[in-house]
Amino acid sequence: MPEPDGYGLDHLPYGAYSVGAGTPRIGVRLGDRVLDVADLRPELDRPTLNDFMALGPDAWAETRAQVTDLAAADALAATPVDDVRLHLPFAVGDYVDFYASLDHASNVGRIFRPDQEPLLPNWRHLPVGYHGRGGTVVVSGTPVVRPCGQRKAPTEDAPTYGPSRRLDIEAELGFVIGAGSALGSRISVGDLAEHVFGVVGLNDWSARDIQAWEYVPLGPFLGKSFATSVAAWVTPLAALDAAWCDLPGQDPTPLDYLVGPGSPGSEGGGPRGLDIDVEVVLNDRVVSRPPYRTMYWSPAQMLAHLTVNGASTRPGDLFASGTISGPEPDTRGSFLELSWGGREPFGGPGGESRTFLEDGDVVTLRYSAPGTSGGRITLGEVTGRIEPARP
Ligand code: MN
Repeated sequence: MPEPDGYGLDHLPYGAYSVGAGTPRIGVRLGDRVLDVADLRPELDRPTLNDFMALGPDAWAETRAQVTDLAAADALAATPVDDVRLHLPFAVGDYVDFYASLDHASNVGRIFRPDQEPLLPNWRHLPVGYHGRGGTVVVSGTPVVRPCGQRKAPTEDAPTYGPSRRLDIEAELGFVIGAGSALGSRISVGDLAEHVFGVVGLNDWSARDIQAWEYVPLGPFLGKSFATSVAAWVTPLAALDAAWCDLPGQDPTPLDYLVGPGSPGSEGGGPRGLDIDVEVVLNDRVVSRPPYRTMYWSPAQMLAHLTVNGASTRPGDLFASGTISGPEPDTRGSFLELSWGGREPFGGPGGESRTFLEDGDVVTLRYSAPGTSGGRITLGEVTGRIEPARP
């Protein structure tokens, strides 16, 4: 039975939904329906995926096989997806955001430090990242209120307080940790699939003016922490078996703990990424197409680095790729880059031009990948509308 729109039996993403005034429960999406899977095992009879994800990869595979059989036999109760309310699918623990795109890091370096080497000296040696705010990760569809804060343009003598004037997006991919790891242990680059349950589209909303004034020397803070949107559907890693690909390559070779089998499907031992196509849609118009396959650091390397100091991980922890930007101008994953620091409005004929976001703008990130049945799967979209600041 072919299912439209990339939500066939080769996908089966998990989400949390409610009907009417009911409490959230776990469901699996097939086509335009949500399948009720709460009765399959006690850990699925919950408002979030955390307890199920904590069971680990054997239970994930067993349940996926069971859901596949029951769904193919049309033996699960279903509700039209248009009739449900979707919730944050997992309780977010610690949230880390990386900076893994060479093109993005190079573009940002050129925009902010035009007279210097675009990459800082550490960038090719480790996946740069920062700890974000798990408590303000919101599900797709949640409105994003323009944040207020301190801003100081380079031309101004002193900071002022007020609504961000340079509100931006970052098109990213998020990785959801299912099975955690103990304090004092490390997750090796070969063990990604033992710990990562699945992936979600992610928009790291960013207030560039607040960020630019506050970030030295400790990194992003209030310019990022007001909201991070994730998809309502978690695509299991198993649905991406056909999407693994070699990344462009790394020079110099990283330290030993960042080198290894890479990820599922790796043959040569090099870093492996995912061949996921992203679309940035501004008010119903595609303004960019970032390719995740062009990233420099792999998800397995990010996870190995995140735990190399013995930091523990827990079910529901989330780590994100950083802005996905490809080498071409129309593959940049942030307005900062698309407008080259706000100097070159983009959008052009047929749409309003932008440098940064205006109130009322709706940004939707769409993701698709090769599926295991020869076609493509559509990952859950991430959308948000900008609401005016609340001074
Ligand atoms: Mn980011």
